[in-house]
Amino acid sequence: MDVTVLGCWAPYPRAGGACSGYLLRDRETLVLLEAGNGSFSRLAAAVDFRALSAVVVSHFHLDHCADLFCLRHALKGARRDGSRAEPLTLFVPQEPRGEFERLAGDNEAFTVRTIESLPRKGDRRVAIAGSLEIEFLPTRHSSPGYGVAVSGSARGCFVYSGDTAYFPELARHWAGAGLLLCEATGLARDSAQLKAVHLTSVQAGELARASGAARLVLTHFWPEYDPAVLAAEAADAFGGPVLAAREGETYSI
Ligand SMILES: [Zn+2]
Ligand SMILES: [Zn+2]
Repeated sequence: MDVTVLGCWAPYPRAGGACSGYLLRDRETLVLLEAGNGSFSRLAAAVDFRALSAVVVSHFHLDHCADLFCLRHALKGARRDGSRAEPLTLFVPQEPRGEFERLAGDNEAFTVRTIESLPRKGDRRVAIAGSLEIEFLPTRHSSPGYGVAVSGSARGCFVYSGDTAYFPELARHWAGAGLLLCEATGLARDSAQLKAVHLTSVQAGELARASGAARLVLTHFWPEYDPAVLAAEAADAFGGPVLAAREGETYSI
């Protein structure tokens, strides 16, 4: 499985950059994970959007979902000109209701599935998209949301944190990650400002170590920060090398 970073900034991008967007590729399966502002252009540069198998949006903050509305226009055009036969399956939380209903009322571009309606697997919900099994891991954030644990044809598991505050169960949720892509919205000194809705770099490193992650890549960077500084703080807590996500970079599991 390959994970390509389309955008890694939050809640606004650096000049020429994009907010959250990750392309998962496993054999013929292509899943767009997050559709933050600017990510659709990057997606279109990487692959034909008509070939997507599914889209997953972790929560309804705009740095994760704004470009769903670009993708919706593109898909409607593709349906009309016959270049895509089916609506695209979109997995989203059912709350906030108003945000959900902006997408759910229209079946031409998307087949919208609420994460809460998916089959249970223990305390998780689970979906299949092509060769990928996607498990949804509840987060604690200012909008209802999820991280994901994704298994494909490779032996390792890819885990993505979504946006979340620290809570100890995250280490259990993320156990066994071959690659953990974890938000690190601020430095250790910012923990009060993050208001218990995001992780610091040190918390990301500590959770990665506690979960036994093989590799840690940080993402969801405040654009005024140097990601290398965040990665250095996380590396001390993790006890090993940590990468800062870079747009256009692909990480293999
Ligand atoms: Zn958020
Ligand atoms: Zn965010």
